[in-house]
Amino acid sequence: MARKNIAAGNWKMNTTLGEGLILLTDIGQHLLNEPATADEVIICPPFLHLPDAANIIDEAELPISLGAQDCHHMAKGAFTGEISAQMLHSAGVQYVLIGHSERRHYCGETDQTLSAKVKSALEAKLNIIFCCGETLEQRENGDYLEIIANQLRNGLFPASSGQCDCVTVAYEPVWAIGTGKTATPEDAQAVHAHIRMVLGEGFGEDADEISILYGGSVSVATAKALFAQPDIDGGLVGGASLVAADFAAISRSFGN
Ligand code: PEP
Repeated sequence: MARKNIAAGNWKMNTTLGEGLILLTDIGQHLLNEPATADEVIICPPFLHLPDAANIIDEAELPISLGAQDCHHMAKGAFTGEISAQMLHSAGVQYVLIGHSERRHYCGETDQTLSAKVKSALEAKLNIIFCCGETLEQRENGDYLEIIANQLRNGLFPASSGQCDCVTVAYEPVWAIGTGKTATPEDAQAVHAHIRMVLGEGFGEDADEISILYGGSVSVATAKALFAQPDIDGGLVGGASLVAADFAAISRSFGN
């Protein structure tokens, strides 16, 4: 499978059900009117929206894949309030984010939990977008490349070796998420090249086929220069994915 250019939107805990379905339809209409230059556009709305979103995408033939923002690491059982990868797959979901820094930080997700989630998601035939990235303190300490490498080695590799067709990685420096501070294209490229090298430890030559997305305040203004870098294969977009015209424009920021 060849490496794909991807624009993925993470809505986080935003939009009521009604608002979300309008936003999804709006993004879809923008893309039907003027297609993305990304190979794939993914939207990750809140869990609650997913079944209706899958129906809308299907019925209106919108050029959008559906993703969830998380899944539980067990397939089923006594885990009140949780949602499994199997359930997501049964609702028409194709992708799931795993290890977003907000979940690592607010929900205490560890590399061990994440590796179990990766395994569970792949078993349920979901594609995963595995998130990694350093905090400001880690960047300033200078050991961030090793920290990112260990996030991949401990969270992603144990569960997914040999399954790279279903793996996308998102590099999201925590200091750039929702702050308006984007890494420079050159800085981001340097980390992406490092990530690709580390992916080689787990996937061998196939690492070259894995899409690595950049996330952290990607905007219409910054997307093109970021996506022009050789190892940046797209973006995981938070805030700007809540504005249909902006997200559609970001999805058209690939190529010349
Ligand atoms: C994110 O949610 O993963 C993200 C990168 O958010 P933002 O684009 O708002 O920084």
